[in-house]
Amino acid sequence: MLELSTSVQYIKGIGPRVAEVLAGKGIRTLQDLLHYLPFRYEDRLNPRGIAELRPGEMATVIAEVRTSGLFRTRRMPIFQMTAAQGRARLKCLWFNGTYLRDRFKPGQMVALYGKVEEDRRGELQIMQPQFEILGDAAEDGSSDGADRKLAASLEVGRIVPIYESAGQGRLTARWFRRAIRTALENMPPEQSDSIPAAVRSRMSLISPTEALCKVHWPEPGESLTDLQAARTPAHLRLIFEELFFVELGLEFKRRQMKAQTGIAFRLDDRVREAIKKILPFHPTAAQKRVLKEIASDMEKPFPMRRLLQGDVGSGKTIVAFEAAIIAIENGCQVALMAPTEILAQQHYFNARRILEGAGYRIVLLTGSVEQDRKRDIRRHIAHGNAHLIIGTHALLEETVEFSKLGLVIVDEQHRFGVMQRLKLMRKSNEEPGVGAKSTPGAAEPDVLVMTATPIPRTLALTLYGDLELSVLDELPPGRTPIVTRRVSDERSTEVWDFVRKQVAAGHQAYVVYPVIEENEERELKAALKMYRELSNVVFADLKVGLLHGRLDNDLKEQVMRLFQSGELNILVATTVIEVGVDVTNASVMVIEHAERFGLSQLHQLRGRIGRGAAKSFCVLMTGGKVSEEGERRLDAMVRTNDGFQIAELDLELRGPGEFFGTRQAGMPSFLIANLIRDRRILEAAKREAAAVMAGPNAEISQPEIDRAIREMRARWQNTYGLVEVG
Ligand code: ADP
Ligand code: MG
Repeated sequence: MLELSTSVQYIKGIGPRVAEVLAGKGIRTLQDLLHYLPFRYEDRLNPRGIAELRPGEMATVIAEVRTSGLFRTRRMPIFQMTAAQGRARLKCLWFNGTYLRDRFKPGQMVALYGKVEEDRRGELQIMQPQFEILGDAAEDGSSDGADRKLAASLEVGRIVPIYESAGQGRLTARWFRRAIRTALENMPPEQSDSIPAAVRSRMSLISPTEALCKVHWPEPGESLTDLQAARTPAHLRLIFEELFFVELGLEFKRRQMKAQTGIAFRLDDRVREAIKKILPFHPTAAQKRVLKEIASDMEKPFPMRRLLQGDVGSGKTIVAFEAAIIAIENGCQVALMAPTEILAQQHYFNARRILEGAGYRIVLLTGSVEQDRKRDIRRHIAHGNAHLIIGTHALLEETVEFSKLGLVIVDEQHRFGVMQRLKLMRKSNEEPGVGAKSTPGAAEPDVLVMTATPIPRTLALTLYGDLELSVLDELPPGRTPIVTRRVSDERSTEVWDFVRKQVAAGHQAYVVYPVIEENEERELKAALKMYRELSNVVFADLKVGLLHGRLDNDLKEQVMRLFQSGELNILVATTVIEVGVDVTNASVMVIEHAERFGLSQLHQLRGRIGRGAAKSFCVLMTGGKVSEEGERRLDAMVRTNDGFQIAELDLELRGPGEFFGTRQAGMPSFLIANLIRDRRILEAAKREAAAVMAGPNAEISQPEIDRAIREMRARWQNTYGLVEVG
């Protein structure tokens, strides 16, 4: 028997070299290997007869190799193999299949999986099928008889698990099948379940050991459909388990927070008057409702942890300023943090425009501020002379000493993953006052997080389990919907003519060029070339500005100011303008190489226009060939302006890891669960986690709760490196 935490290299058949390959897949321990689940299953108990195949279906076929060979076409080498069952034949083709030479031998049995098609002559074929040569033990480097028999029993005559291969195909699905078989045989005996019995029975959960056995080796009679959809009892157990302990951790955090001392802000007529005085417009009903939710949190004696979610342009900024006034009028300081310097500067301009008249003192503290000036500003902050402190998230890193920090506002959180945010908050817990030194036992500041990612509500509620949620679901009045069109860049002349007309009518325009980190050098060059072309040739008579991430901050600020004041007609920019930039007079956005942008990113970009009363236009220019997925993104953009619809589709296209941004640091990377597929289970897990944390009752005992929390701590520590939870 091995421990679950035993390194994989001690499993029979796995040595240090293979262990290294596995580590590349995140598989280090026996437990990791056991949680490496099949991504699909093949029914090799009832494989299909070639004669009964229909074009268009996905099918598994077991057949005998007849002939194979490579032939060259003008475009590429193609490998062809013909498999047969008696007289029925099935042709298999692999493009660029040179690597398959010498792979198949006549008489071998192969399992083939793929989409059945008809060729021009009406014969059946599968393009690029996945395949496995059956019982060809030599492929695994072992060839004794017992091994061969085992291989056969694992590979045919049953529903067979298919694993993603590893190490550039060196560790095949067959290899995993055997390794996991061995791992299952060496698994420690069933231990008591960390999920309380009442939860187990409500959710009809089978035991972890049983689940692991059955997820890898489905029992005879298990439904193939349920297996493929991850809906067998074995899958449900493993998915629930994973989500349950994540939700338990979030629930724990939330309760911990509620138990801390916060500031009970007073919200009386004087404060209400102060808010009214600064409002430059009538708030929308949604803005009023959301402010009420925030204000009611702020009045309570424990710290606020609230997420304000609102599509681009829904008017989050003014709500943040209103909350700031409540804190300032109560004698506290407010920190407002933005993800980029440009955005911090933008907030600074806005704040001064809207708040300075009322006597509030506002400072900007970002990395680019000179040392001397920084010292000055810090002193102001420490003495309580500054009321609203605006900066980038670097504010967290700096040892800023606040005199009395009451509210922290974090803007455009969608740049940050969930886990990163938890780490931010952890920091603010360790050092009360977000990086500020203050006396132990001092009250925790309130935190308001703002995001423009329209996360579907159920998902938001569960994912941001430690935050309360407010939604701005209404755009300010007087907006005309943005008209979005897609054109090929062969028609750029027409597009530039259109831009010129809009400028002649007194409007301003953005031209956005993609600069993706991977190819930054090259793409930046292309963007600069574009800029020169536009400013010197196409729009030689107009004022064209340039904004990109590499410019130094003074220059960035200057360019933004010129565009804001209308002195520039056209702003050529990279995605640095993606978040937050707010110039109401800009009514056109041309996005070059729109096919290279992600859907949410396109939507964020487009959100920079359509902010005033004038009709706005977004032109998506494409250059070159657009992938199928690219087509779907562009289609969606043309079809709808609704951030929620766009988010749903984006989530579907990219999967949650990418969707929530920062793949590297962002999401809890779920091993088994899939947040789209498993939404319902996620909700159940949240509900059950809350029930457990509510304390012992007739169904759940204190020892059971303690056990669950111990398990949760261990998991959080191992997976997310967040020791403090719990
Ligand atoms: P976002 O939610 O994207 O941060 P902003 O706060 O930048 O949106 O607001 C977008 C634009 O709408 C700004 O120009 C802002 O002044 C304007 N705005 C916000 N609320 C209202 C309102 N109630 N009535 C009119 N204009 C508003
Ligand atoms: Mg904003």
